[in-house]
Amino acid sequence: MNDVLPDEVGRWQRVEQAYARTMSLYGFREVRTPYVEPTALFTRAIGEATDVVEKEMYSFVHHDEPLTLRPEGTAGAARAYIEHQVHAKEPVSRWWYGGAMFRAERPQRGRYRQFYQLGAEIFGDPGPGCDAEMIDMLVQLLGELRVPGVQVYVNSLGGADTRARYRDALVAYLGPKAASLTPDSQRRLGTNPLRILDSKDERDRAACEGAPTLHDFLGADDRAHFEALRKHLDALGTPYTVDPRLVRGLDYYTRTLFEIKGAKDKLGAGDTLVGGGRYDNMLADLGGQAAPAIGFAAGLERLLIASELEAPAGRVDALVAPLGDTVGAALGLARELRRSGIRCECDTRGSTLKSQLRRANALGARVVVIQGDTELAAGVVQVKDLDAHTQETMPRDQAIRVVVDRLVAASRSVDSRRPDATTPTPVPPAAKPGGEA
Ligand code: AMP
Repeated sequence: MNDVLPDEVGRWQRVEQAYARTMSLYGFREVRTPYVEPTALFTRAIGEATDVVEKEMYSFVHHDEPLTLRPEGTAGAARAYIEHQVHAKEPVSRWWYGGAMFRAERPQRGRYRQFYQLGAEIFGDPGPGCDAEMIDMLVQLLGELRVPGVQVYVNSLGGADTRARYRDALVAYLGPKAASLTPDSQRRLGTNPLRILDSKDERDRAACEGAPTLHDFLGADDRAHFEALRKHLDALGTPYTVDPRLVRGLDYYTRTLFEIKGAKDKLGAGDTLVGGGRYDNMLADLGGQAAPAIGFAAGLERLLIASELEAPAGRVDALVAPLGDTVGAALGLARELRRSGIRCECDTRGSTLKSQLRRANALGARVVVIQGDTELAAGVVQVKDLDAHTQETMPRDQAIRVVVDRLVAASRSVDSRRPDATTPTPVPPAAKPGGEA
């Protein structure tokens, strides 16, 4: 579990803001569900024989009530959808969420015990149109987040009956080779044989070579659904690879399944940025009205490892530097600048001009407004532009307008150089507030 210090939070916020913007552009609305849910919700939704439920959940019993810190977001969203009878209010619901998830995994790069996911669900649309749109939306988002080397993998798991028939065929194929499997996979042969296909171990991979693929077992409807998904992705020009071995770790998927990976040189083994798929049976399995559903989750830390987005520039736009006995007036000046949208600090330490200028540099300020006793008496300030290397004395009110104009111009030129820049654009000066200084 990690601390995220303020120096890093800027990049987190840029990704979170880009995500929230993308979601609203696609008509998704944010949902917030609890961090703790009854343990039974996860065992029923995710599946008893999955790694997450078997080994990774932080579960505890409080006053006889078994509870678990949420290991993923879909189960809670589905529970909320059922509990609030959302299906009766609208035919299709598009929800997004973001927040911490908890899994007791072996920590490594890109794999943590408290990690953050950005996810979304669509309830009520059987696809495959929305499946294709969801995958394409993620590709667009990753482009905006400047993630290089994005690769999309898709597969179809068919319905529950396909899985059952395939499971039998896989067990029949792997059974005689059981001795060559890893101990984990030998165990999975009895509990969750599909997961053996997911194993990274060479012994398991060799044993699976030549195994029947799920596609041979897809029914006509499932096959048509998958073909239509591919057709829509082709129409959108979204590149993808069909990976018949893709199964993923959560048991609830049906039909469409996808993963999006980033460049291995940055991410190493944890190169899966996004995982998602359809789970058309979950709502009914959890006791709700049957409704088709699809969702995904992206690992925020992994997006941050993969993304080439830089931290937003500068902590403040301006520093107000009082000298002598002028702190009260300087605080009023800073307050007025902030009303005009200028991010600023007022240096209230009572230190020398030299040390205040050093601080302005450290904060990334572009302008320093200096006010000493003589200036205060004359109703003027000095505006020092650290980029243009100029310093001018001017009346206080004029200084506010000049600072705002310069910073608006500066942020425009930054915006035109870097389309993703998130330096806030200062708003034009407010009508002159009275009673200050
Ligand atoms: P899942 O919920 O297992 O389908 O995972 C979806 C995505 O969440 C993965 O592709 C990762 O990007 C991220 N993720 C899952 N588990 C972890 C973890 N322990 N630490 C960091 N990111 C994770």
